[in-house]
This record gives sequence, structure tokens and C-alpha cells, in this order.
Amino acid sequence: MLNLQQLQNILNNDSPEFLEELAQKAHRLTQQYFGRTMVLYAPIYLSNYCSSHCTYCGFSLHNRIKRLRLNPEQMHQEMKTVAATGIENILLLTGESYKATPLSYLKEAIAIAKQYFTSIALEVHPMDSQEYHELFQHGVDGITVYQETYNRDRYKEVHLSGKKADYDYRYGTPERAAQAGMRHVSMGILLGLADVATDLLSLYQHLRYMEQHYPGVEYSVSFPRLRTIKGHEFAICDVDDKKFIKVICLTRILFPRVGINLSTRENAKLRDHALGLGVTRMSAGSNTSVGGYSLENTDDQEPQFDIEDHRSVSDMIQLLKEKNFDPVLTDWRPISNQAS
Ligand code: SF4
Repeated sequence: MLNLQQLQNILNNDSPEFLEELAQKAHRLTQQYFGRTMVLYAPIYLSNYCSSHCTYCGFSLHNRIKRLRLNPEQMHQEMKTVAATGIENILLLTGESYKATPLSYLKEAIAIAKQYFTSIALEVHPMDSQEYHELFQHGVDGITVYQETYNRDRYKEVHLSGKKADYDYRYGTPERAAQAGMRHVSMGILLGLADVATDLLSLYQHLRYMEQHYPGVEYSVSFPRLRTIKGHEFAICDVDDKKFIKVICLTRILFPRVGINLSTRENAKLRDHALGLGVTRMSAGSNTSVGGYSLENTDDQEPQFDIEDHRSVSDMIQLLKEKNFDPVLTDWRPISNQAS
């Protein structure tokens, strides 16, 4: 594993020869371990209720936004709309409210999602192992949970109240999900919250720990860049495109088998450029509002973040094919062993 100084040197080295070498290596490893496949997935926001106060997020408890939570009928509507695009990997998201979206609500959503999708992942409030186990048995394959920043002081500054303010509980979440039998765990940092090299090194150490202790789990990582939210000036990420691409390449080189996600938070140009350099999973045709795919009255709602790449799922499929990639809408299906 690199030390902090080495990591800083890499992130600060802008020589074209060095960047080319890094990109070539990342490209070779991505082809070796993933071929030319690209998994496509879509997020569905079920609720924007949140009981935590995070200074960088539009869903934060004290923000005066219209709060919505899909009922079962609306879930069907949203899921049917997304499934019609061909997407089979779905990420169900909520704000972090144990009260508004308890385990029973999530189970209901999963039961409905199973009617439309083959692979279901959750990005919701962190839970205990037993609850994750129940969700796994209910049909959830994966859990997404980002530490956001591994710098404890900075973590405390931006997570002011609610369960999310508990650094250690969040840190232990990937492990509890793995212990519960989850097939896929996705981890990440929010670039722009703290020093990138330091956060990256901590993420790598966390990921290495998970790989060593839970080798049967499939891991992926994400590097969302902090965006401005209305009325908040501080949320500006100083990680430029060049540095961002370096983070992706470096991660591929250090973790050849780990998936790297890239969401529509990034613009089309950057997403196209990142193809082949390490990214293995991309969201497509995304909407980040609750009910945003099919419900009519979402105009007055604040999305969690703004979408930069507005291309549809079919646009993305076409683009990937033109660039000689194989778009993967589902990479596995559960089978029933019951005797007929
Ligand atoms: S980041 Fe998560 S926990 Fe924090 S306010 Fe937003 S939705 Fe809530």
C-alpha cells in the first residue's frame, strides 16, 4: 500500500507522460479483469425525509424542502417506468430517517422492486447486522454506504446531529453488511469535504481491511464530488477533472478487481473520458427526486443533487456500443431450486 506522501506525489504530478502511463496501466487492468463490460444501473429515491443534519446535503433535517415518501402504488409507478427503460440493476435510496422509512417500509419497497428488477441495492440509513440479514433474506443484494470523510474532526464539523453524526457506527457499516451476507458492498468518500489524499488513503485502508476479512463480497467504490446546494456557498469541490481521473486510475491500479461507480453527477464529457480507465458501473437516465421518473408534481421539490449527464438509458447503450463496450443491464439472476 502507498504511504500518504506517495499518494500526494501522484495526485500532484501533472506531467503528461506520467498521466499517460497511469491511464495506460489502468486501462490494461480494467480490460484484464472486466473486459469491455459496463454495468448500467439507476437510482430510485423512495423518500427524502431525514433525521440527520449534514451541512452539505439538501435533504438535511432543517432544510425547508417539500418532504415526500412514496406509497406502494407510487413505488409501482416509478419502478415500472424505470424497468421499461431496460434497467435491471436498481439502487433504492432514502434520506436517513429511521422513523419515516423503517425496516418494514424498506421490506415493502423491496418486495415491489423484486417484481421489476433482478438486482436490488440499498442506500439508506445504516443498520445492525440482524436487520441487514433480514433485508438480504428479503432479496437485497447490496448495500451502499459512504464514510464521506475519514477525517474525524471534519466529519464532526459537517455531521451536526442525528445518527449520521456517529462516525464509528458508520465506519462499521460495511462490515455489518458483509457479516449479514450481502453480496455487494459499495463504499466511498465525498471529494471536497477534506484533504483528498488523506481521505483516499483511509478509504483504501478500509477497503483492504474489508477484502482481507470478507473476501467473498464484491466491492465497489464511488468518488462523488461535492456540489453546491441552494443557499450554501461552501460546498465547492477543489478536485478538478484531471485529479478526478487520477483518483479513478490509481484506484484501478491498486485494486484491480474492485468495481468503480460513476454517477450522472458528473457531466457527459467526463463520463465518456473515464470509459475504459477503470469505471465499471455507471448510472444512466437518472432522476434524483422522489417520484421523479413518473409522478407529476415534483417541480417544487429539491433533488439531493443536480444531474449533469441527462442522457437516457438507450442513449447510454448506444454510446457504449459505438465505443465497443458491452452494456450490461443485469449480470446475474437469482434462480429457484424448488422442484416443480
Ligand atoms: S447526507 Fe444523508 S444523512 Fe445527511 S442529510 Fe443528506 S440524506 Fe440525510
